[in-house]
Amino acid sequence: MLRSVILRHSRTVTRNNWVASEWKRTFRSDNIEKQTGLFGNAELKTSKSLNKLPAAVKSSTDSLIQELLSPSSNPRTSIEIVDDISNEICKSADLVSCMFQDSKLKFYLFQAECVRQLHCESEFREAAENASRKFCELVESLNTNTALYQKLKSSEVTEASRLDDVDRRTLTLLLDDFEQSGVHLEDDQKSKFVQLSSEIFEAGARFQENCDRIVPVGKFDQAKYGLPSQIYSPVSNSLDRSKRKMVYNTFYRHDDQQEVYLRKLVSSRQELAQLTGFESFAHRAQRNSLLENYDNVRNFLWGVVEECRSAFEKELAVLIDVSTQCSQQVRNGDNDVSTIAEHDLGFLMHLYRESAYDIAKVSHESSQFFTFSSVWKGFSTLTQRLYGVRLIEDPINHGEMWNTAGVLKLKALDDQNNELGIIYADVSIRPEKAVGDCHYTVRCSKQLSNGTWQMPILVLSLGLVDGHSTEWKDSGISFHSAETMFHELGHAMHSILGRTKYQHVAGTRCPQDFSEIPSNLMEYFFSDLGVMRDIIRRPNQPNEQLPIESAATLLASRHSFTAIETVQQAAYGLYDLEVHGPIAAPQIASGRMTTTELFYDIMSKAMPHVQRSPDSAFQHRFHHTVQYGAKYYSYLVARASACLIWQQRFQNEPFSRKWGGCWAEVQSHGGGHPPAILLKKILGFRPTSKDLTHALSKESQHLANLDAVTV
Ligand SMILES: [Zn+2]
Repeated sequence: MLRSVILRHSRTVTRNNWVASEWKRTFRSDNIEKQTGLFGNAELKTSKSLNKLPAAVKSSTDSLIQELLSPSSNPRTSIEIVDDISNEICKSADLVSCMFQDSKLKFYLFQAECVRQLHCESEFREAAENASRKFCELVESLNTNTALYQKLKSSEVTEASRLDDVDRRTLTLLLDDFEQSGVHLEDDQKSKFVQLSSEIFEAGARFQENCDRIVPVGKFDQAKYGLPSQIYSPVSNSLDRSKRKMVYNTFYRHDDQQEVYLRKLVSSRQELAQLTGFESFAHRAQRNSLLENYDNVRNFLWGVVEECRSAFEKELAVLIDVSTQCSQQVRNGDNDVSTIAEHDLGFLMHLYRESAYDIAKVSHESSQFFTFSSVWKGFSTLTQRLYGVRLIEDPINHGEMWNTAGVLKLKALDDQNNELGIIYADVSIRPEKAVGDCHYTVRCSKQLSNGTWQMPILVLSLGLVDGHSTEWKDSGISFHSAETMFHELGHAMHSILGRTKYQHVAGTRCPQDFSEIPSNLMEYFFSDLGVMRDIIRRPNQPNEQLPIESAATLLASRHSFTAIETVQQAAYGLYDLEVHGPIAAPQIASGRMTTTELFYDIMSKAMPHVQRSPDSAFQHRFHHTVQYGAKYYSYLVARASACLIWQQRFQNEPFSRKWGGCWAEVQSHGGGHPPAILLKKILGFRPTSKDLTHALSKESQHLANLDAVTV
């Protein structure tokens, strides 16, 4: 029931140890009562109060379960009551989940990559972790509560006349989440289901532990290539091609142990899919998604590869030119300059960007324009013009946040000054804070029984500035960070615009291919030269815009080699799909094929002009196979959808209030309708996989016109 409680989004996630003695000293609270509680909740003024949360939640969910299972006829539908149960847990569990980090709990309770500790006081973190364990037990007991499941399942029929489209959709999604725990199976199947789930968890965890392993370098290679005794990354920016090749292939060399873990993961997933009536795990994973089934996903991904091929080859030709110039410079006798290998791609792109764009100069100029304040204010200007919703800064009371250095509270208001939601942006760089950028839904929108709306509360965690600097709000941030802010604020705005009857489908609680569309669309606005110059203004000098040359250079550099990156992403998506697919998974499970052979086969077909070693096993370091499981492609679908919306509705009139209002309305439905129906509201048609492919290919064609450079 709680599987979708936190946005399953993570751009980059790293796990850092939280405890840093300096912060522990500074922020030791010793249980002092604060003026106000966490997130303004009067019940949460001390760390001890967190410990009381699970019992309070248990008591309220118990009475709701009684109401649900009561034999007398109920004025409320089963889905309404179960959503209330879910809401009771989520609004407390999500709150504490921001403050703890435990991979096993995370997996069982939230499956969220971005859950990690943010609170600066150890007492709060410890209390949060204890509370989370209790919530975990409560959720497990509810997810396996057969009476609860059967009552909900039977309501599909017994309450059919009282259900509308949104009720039915939410009911389907909730039942689906229940069935992830095997609650619907017969006893013998149920124990098999539990056993397979545990095997999947173990194999996935072991595999992930090894993904970032360091590779030792032998004495001979150390001497020959001037390398240290260990390699931490596949990247070598050496002009010597053989050294780049050696570093890349050593880092990504096939690893027998990783292959064993992957084989176990794939075979258990395949068995679990068949146990629950699906042809393969790749088929099972597509339930409720935009593309709906395995074949559509396959067609979409191969379509992207095919349709972006000419733009891809154009970009490759530019890199071959750079490579030729390099080999002439080093005179290394490399006769094969007309080919490109995968170990060349990153290096040659880097060299091209260095030569084509004067990034150092432009970054210096733009640093006066991109600050934390100027970017959130620019975002607010955009949403005000599009939806009539603006953000304003609000003071943080003592105790409301874990920390006030580097944290800003933003209130979202509509054009009648009605409060729509709150965003806490924690942007300080702290040694103990996980580096990844993340968005948490602490509380989401939902229509309450008295007809009012539950106020959404969001937390953005970004590592941007030194929070102790008095100037932190106006200190410069990179162009990339500014773009990331637009992405994460796009997620937050999706939740703020939520107006759903049920919390289970509010805001970003929808399939990932849809939940990433609003954030990706905000990146399109940010990447438009006119929009960016219009909304981002120099702090304290609101009439000053970023010089047009600087803005154009930043954008050109950012979007260079888009086709290569798109095809590469599609190929990774294909691998992740097919490794769980009906043909490859049984062969991998039985040892007739290795994942390295599958990966080589897909990459060779998707990028035939890029040479690669058959023994190279990028997929042995690909965390996402565990986290996404046949859905890594979702991000590309979301980008394609955002691209289509941008091209059709905003490219010619980016501040259109008409289409802005329409898009706000679409977002207000969260996951209450299937993604295809929501997209029809903004596009006027239900996009097929071909439409999405075409949007990406059109974009790639446009961006692939790169000038030749002298390196
Ligand atoms: Zn995202």
